[in-house]
Amino acid sequence: MKLSEEKIREMEKIYSGYWWSEEEEEEYREISSDPFKLLIFTILSQNTSGINTRRAYRSLNERFKIDAFSLSKAEEHEIAEAIRHGGLYRVKARKIKEVSKYLLENYEGRLDKILKMDVEKARKELLKLPGVGNKTADVILASIYGQRKAFVVDTHMRRIAIRLGLVNEKANYDEIEKKLKEIFPWEKLKGKEDRVAGLFWLLAKHTCRAINPKCEECILKEDCRFYLTQK
Ligand code: SF4
Repeated sequence: MKLSEEKIREMEKIYSGYWWSEEEEEEYREISSDPFKLLIFTILSQNTSGINTRRAYRSLNERFKIDAFSLSKAEEHEIAEAIRHGGLYRVKARKIKEVSKYLLENYEGRLDKILKMDVEKARKELLKLPGVGNKTADVILASIYGQRKAFVVDTHMRRIAIRLGLVNEKANYDEIEKKLKEIFPWEKLKGKEDRVAGLFWLLAKHTCRAINPKCEECILKEDCRFYLTQK
């Protein structure tokens, strides 16, 4: 299966309404311009809605300077207090403190030192950081290299990959990432790779919902194993 230009146009029509507001885009641009801030934002987003992630981030930003030095010195319970809008805030507070200390001890607090390595080496180093798994590593890499090189697989992407029949239930992160990347006509998407990957994610989230997927209105139904086997 490959996403055709027609399907991409349809995705643009259907899902652009779900795209972030200008204010949200601006805030994310500011966060993602600093890899450490993006790391903290991504840790806060784990198992948490977009709205609560932003609330937790803003509150943390009001209490602390978001850099490895300040957060490694902060009391864990104060970090937890600041981010309690998001779920699992105690666990996340511990991760934030640990990752800040690790970066301070190993990279002078500078995540950008890791990101200067080539993509594969950077990915390996990122995965050594406390609290950083495949998804978080790819979010950070994608902010630099784009989704074509660092395609982010989260729970929505995993679900749609399985339903489409691209991978089976037991597939690991790398397999899912590889198979999903193959459906994008990257050569034809120059300059809008991340936009199209984002639209596809919106389809996975809002149409290919975990419960009661809206298959009848899905633009991918003719290529979807789940849909075709349910008919
Ligand atoms: S047809 Fe249904 S299961 Fe398949 S991708 Fe679309 S929403 Fe998901």
